[in-house]
Amino acid sequence: MISIFTPPTPVNEEVRGYAPGSDERKAIEKAIRTLKSRIIDIPMIIGGKEVTTGNLEEIRAPHDHDTLLARYHMGTGEQVTQAIENALEARQKWSETSWEQRASIFLKAASLLSGAFRYKINAATMLGQSKNVHQAEIDAACESIDFLNFNVQYMADIYHIQPKNNLYTWNRLEQRPLEGFIFAVSPFNFTSIALNLAAAPALMGNVVVWKPAQNQIYSAKILMDVLRAAGLPAGVINMVFAPGKEAADVALAHPDLAGIHFTGSTEVFQSLWKGVGNNITGYKTFPRLVGETGGKDFVLAHPSARAVEVATALSRGAFEYQGQKCSAASRGYIPASLWPEVKCHLLDDLSQFKMGSPEDFSNFVNAVIDERAFNKLTGYIDQAKNHPDVEIIAGGNYDKSKGYFIEPTVIVTRDPNYDTMQTELFGPVLTLYVYEDKDFNDVLRLVDKTSPYGLTGALFATDRYAIEMASRALINAAGNFYINDKPTGAVVGRQPFGGSRASGTNDKAGSMLNLLRWVSPRTIKECFLPPVDHHYPFLADK
Ligand code: NAD
Repeated sequence: MISIFTPPTPVNEEVRGYAPGSDERKAIEKAIRTLKSRIIDIPMIIGGKEVTTGNLEEIRAPHDHDTLLARYHMGTGEQVTQAIENALEARQKWSETSWEQRASIFLKAASLLSGAFRYKINAATMLGQSKNVHQAEIDAACESIDFLNFNVQYMADIYHIQPKNNLYTWNRLEQRPLEGFIFAVSPFNFTSIALNLAAAPALMGNVVVWKPAQNQIYSAKILMDVLRAAGLPAGVINMVFAPGKEAADVALAHPDLAGIHFTGSTEVFQSLWKGVGNNITGYKTFPRLVGETGGKDFVLAHPSARAVEVATALSRGAFEYQGQKCSAASRGYIPASLWPEVKCHLLDDLSQFKMGSPEDFSNFVNAVIDERAFNKLTGYIDQAKNHPDVEIIAGGNYDKSKGYFIEPTVIVTRDPNYDTMQTELFGPVLTLYVYEDKDFNDVLRLVDKTSPYGLTGALFATDRYAIEMASRALINAAGNFYINDKPTGAVVGRQPFGGSRASGTNDKAGSMLNLLRWVSPRTIKECFLPPVDHHYPFLADK
């Protein structure tokens, strides 16, 4: 670098509408047809090379058991070891690559996702993860592009943070990549999160071993294609497929583990943290542990709220992408005076939702991700059907004969501590508790204490004193707190995302705060007039 460069100013990627007859609608339909016309084999990518094992696992569309999309080569700990070795081999050159070269690769990846790969990544997310086109567009295309573009800006901002100087000294802060490799473990539900978990540390000069969730491998392969097409050097990000625990056992036992970038369930992150604890004496450096985990996200309506706004936040916030967002509204607290109107709007919304394949664009609701999720969720629904304290007022039906379909289900409970008010279900099940208007203060305590999580939450009110009081009372209940808006849909650069308590380390994906976890600063003091006499004035005789 022989100049101090300024990267392009990021702007949020515009969300395309996909209305019937639009160019983007034609393009996505074509991309879906193209993907479905070929059953592909997906290799791991280690050291820039395609690695196969012959141990093939099938990827089928969650909404249609008959649609075989691909087969991927399942690996073992052996490939994880190989990936770590390749990453460490690539480390020196990559960590010394100047920042603008690193930035250019990821900016190019953003451009490719915005252009040539947009419909492909969206189509793969629709088919492999059962997302409707809007959900795929805001995730796989827009949020991925935003992560890449905004992170470059944040990287530049971080490098600009410099200490003060005295005359004759120059103090400098260098943001060194971590010494070792980063183990990135991603969830099934967001293509963009998978990309960011691997790409954010790599952008900051780190090397990465990335293990995507099995249910996201179909779109993960395209992310890897994009990164390679953008010129990411071999070994910087290595994509391995192996059972989670087996991969973790190998990565966590390695002395060069420098960090874990995880998104997924609280239990798995806790097990990773324990694993690091068990191996702590063996590491060359203290690994950075960054985990965004579960949620039990609330919508709290004050008696001054507008019923239609509350109902819309519930129907969209709880059921978009079948409630499989960490931020999805899954418990609601509605004052008795508003309940009849909220119920009416909510049931009206739900009656208009169509459920089915994302390939039929009129479907708002698609399938849940797999049989395990289906069985878990329907177990909770069956339990609710037979419980004296609760009533199912919408949905409650399910069918896995063609795909894993569960109707958007609304449970109303008389017990604010009923199981589904506390436990993360991660599916299209919303539980509501109707409270007496006069009990708003008690309800604030309930909202705060009912679940162990602290991810997202929404307050609906028009009374400004109520807004202030609830904002204070719920200060630790959510890392992303919404006033008069649904608790989902955080946008990179606008609402940095993450929560604390059992929801994670709150390192705010989509902000400078996350990137700071992937660097280790070195302070340099350069002195232009070094002292030549050891005497201080106080040593003088008089
Ligand atoms: P998951 O915890 O089942 O899996 C996440 C990843 O961990 C996958 O790659 C999986 O293969 C791997 N894994 C599973 N067991 C492992 C083990 N023992 N050791 C190491 N790795 C292991 O989560 P999921 O079902 O893919 O995603 C849903 C969860 O993710 C929900 O709890 C949701 O709230 C959470 N999530 C949180 C955020 C957030 O930002 N807070 C965002 C998205 C999803």
